[in-house]
Amino acid sequence: MDLYEYQGKELFRPFGIPTSEGRPATTPAEARAAAEELGGQVVVKAQVLTGGRGKAGGIKLADDPADAERKAEEILGLDIRGHVVRQLWIERASEIAKEYYLSVTFDRGAKQALFMLTTEGGVEIEEVAEKTPDALARLHVDPLEGYQPYQARRLIYGAGIDDPGEQKQLLDIIGKLYRCFVESDALLCEINPLIVTPEGEVRALDSKFTVDDNALFKHPDVAEMRDLEAYPPEERAAREKGVTYVKLDGDVGILGNGAGLVMSTLDVIALVGGRPANFCDLGGGGDAQGVVDALEVITADPQVKSILFNIFAGITRCDVVAQGILQALSQIEISHPIVVRFDGTNAEEGRAILAEAAPPNLHTEATMLDAARRAVELAA
Ligand code: GDP
Ligand code: MN
Repeated sequence: MDLYEYQGKELFRPFGIPTSEGRPATTPAEARAAAEELGGQVVVKAQVLTGGRGKAGGIKLADDPADAERKAEEILGLDIRGHVVRQLWIERASEIAKEYYLSVTFDRGAKQALFMLTTEGGVEIEEVAEKTPDALARLHVDPLEGYQPYQARRLIYGAGIDDPGEQKQLLDIIGKLYRCFVESDALLCEINPLIVTPEGEVRALDSKFTVDDNALFKHPDVAEMRDLEAYPPEERAAREKGVTYVKLDGDVGILGNGAGLVMSTLDVIALVGGRPANFCDLGGGGDAQGVVDALEVITADPQVKSILFNIFAGITRCDVVAQGILQALSQIEISHPIVVRFDGTNAEEGRAILAEAAPPNLHTEATMLDAARRAVELAA
């Protein structure tokens, strides 16, 4: 789960990572009131789940409350890489002498946390990694050994930061960021830029924070932060119905039982020259309500032209799934052609049930490859 900048900073603060004081706002009037409370120059920041807001005009300095209100008006409603701005963060403006970059992420390959630090902050880190890879210091932290301050010193020297005052503050921030990362079950904590003020104070000016979805049950306060309106309508509906669904951009709707099977179904669709419209996992069941919910979510996507049901039954029985499909089709109106592939327990019985009922838009195939070909043909 990705967090907004201001939410990430909210998680930074209890760990003692220095940030600027700010207030959330959703209207120009609120932005004005926030600027009045903060006093002095403020920065009006679009809150969207994407980076590069600065370049897109989503970050603006304001000299006084009236100016903050005007800037808020300009930024609200702006489309930043497909994300419409509905929320703002009004923050006391900082003076910037230097912009650094600091992050800790989970390196799956190494099975360890990975810190990255560079003095070339403010720009996208991918750009730094490509153009000046030597400027990027990296450091793995062994989860068993835990974080040790000497490691942070190595990271700081590696990045070529030689000011003693900065070194001391960075050492402190890196230790705190590691605790924040581990205790929040984060997958990414990124600070870009981590600024140095003209007075030499080091502070987080931005945050990019991703929490592991699988750990959200341990962090109800973080789970609460999810902004459902920021998701595509199909994904929102899926979440409400408890359907495991990810929208993709093709035209063949996919439904299967088991994440692995669905993943391979996406591959087979691509293999036969088609493009999947989604990932959707029915889970172990195949009861009518589960099928209705999944079909409602899949067909809400106007790009879907055909639907492929791929069922490999182990504990699940194909005859039960067939009943579920027929019941679902009697409950909701679906004009899309549907291709069904059954394999495993009671596959023949399942196909026989569908053949007997013979709904006009339903096609059965015996193998995954044939079913995929058929679904792609029917989508054309
Ligand atoms: P991003 O573009 O989405 O990564 O948003 P950031 O929060 O990183 O802001 C982008 C840029 O805006 C920063 O790199 C700064 O140069 C500038 N900026 C943000 N906040 C302030 C501030 O308080 N004062 C000044 N002078 N510049 C700021
Ligand atoms: Mn940034």
